[in-house]
Amino acid sequence: MSSVTVIGAGVVGLSVAHELAGSGHRVRVLADRPATASVSAVAAAIWFPHDVQRSAAVVDSSAVAYRRFRELAADPATGVHMRTGMVHVRRPDADLSWTRAVPDHEITPEGVRCTVPLIETGVYLSWLRDAVLAQGTPIRTHRVTSLGDVLPDTDAVVVAAGIGSAALLGDDEVYPIRGQVVRLANPGLTDWLTDEDNPDGLTYVVPRRDDVVCGGTGEVGDWNEVPDPRIEAAILRRVRALVPALEGQPVLSRAAGLRPARSTVRVERVPGHPGPVFACYGHGGAGVTLSWGDAARIAALVVS
Ligand SMILES: Cc1cc2nc3c(=O)[nH]c(=O)nc-3n(C[C@H](O)[C@H](O)[C@H](O)COP(=O)(O)OP(=O)(O)OC[C@H]3O[C@@H](n4cnc5c(N)ncnc54)[C@H](O)[C@@H]3O)c2cc1C
Repeated sequence: MSSVTVIGAGVVGLSVAHELAGSGHRVRVLADRPATASVSAVAAAIWFPHDVQRSAAVVDSSAVAYRRFRELAADPATGVHMRTGMVHVRRPDADLSWTRAVPDHEITPEGVRCTVPLIETGVYLSWLRDAVLAQGTPIRTHRVTSLGDVLPDTDAVVVAAGIGSAALLGDDEVYPIRGQVVRLANPGLTDWLTDEDNPDGLTYVVPRRDDVVCGGTGEVGDWNEVPDPRIEAAILRRVRALVPALEGQPVLSRAAGLRPARSTVRVERVPGHPGPVFACYGHGGAGVTLSWGDAARIAALVVS
């Protein structure tokens, strides 16, 4: 057993903290924003490896997380539900490696119809934070400016700070992919859909208990976290074309967030520090999808 400091309280940092405490480590979390104010709260979120470089490790972590979320879906308090929907496929060379992780899927002429976890982040992130606190792990509001300030007080550090990880580790491979959503009243929809290669732009519709998350965008290198009304109007045109039942539904809320993208997701020990430092970031548009899998990988690395 050792003491571990996790930097970051988004879905990745909280999942890492949970798995480390479950492995018997003494954990503390430092974060300058709560999960509910991070990009993790902007995600709809459905389990799907969007905007992330696919690899065997990504598919494996997705599969681990799929199974974990399916277990969590048995408890409505978690905000996780198993939901059926359609991944529209428009390109013959589309990468369908992710279907290996999805037991219930069917390839159709339009794409892949499948059942995946829907994680209502507004509910889930609060549940996850409470689960971490219940393990005895403190979550402190604190901005870390240098790992050198943290390392003397702890046996190991995990950098799970999303887009903020770049500055902490001097990693110039990290970049934002901006995403904007608008949330409408739910007219009674249950099935979700994604249409990544829609010629009019990325489109998805994710019905939740109290709203429908409509998206989206993927603006590479754009740091603007403020929703843009012209982009919202275009999103509404696209989703209503695919799902006419959304016509006339009132806007309940809107948001924009920065997906923490990187050439590849980084889950490894980082050399060159006076103490053990581990990286867990760069999850792009799939941080929720990979969360439990990459948290388990970090827990295995910290032990070895
Ligand atoms: C519109 C949109 C839709 C999305 N939909 C999905 C989806 O359906 N499924 C899916 O899997 N993913 C989705 N994503 C992607 C997902 O939101 C991210 O991959 C995920 O939230 C990243 O989590 P994170 O914990 O790494 O980062 P964050 O949520 O950004 O958390 C980072 C944490 O680190 C802290 N931090 C940063 N720097 C410092 C510092 N210097 N000191 C202290 N603390 C620091 C922050 O305060 C915060 O607590 C979507 C994203 C967007 C924008």
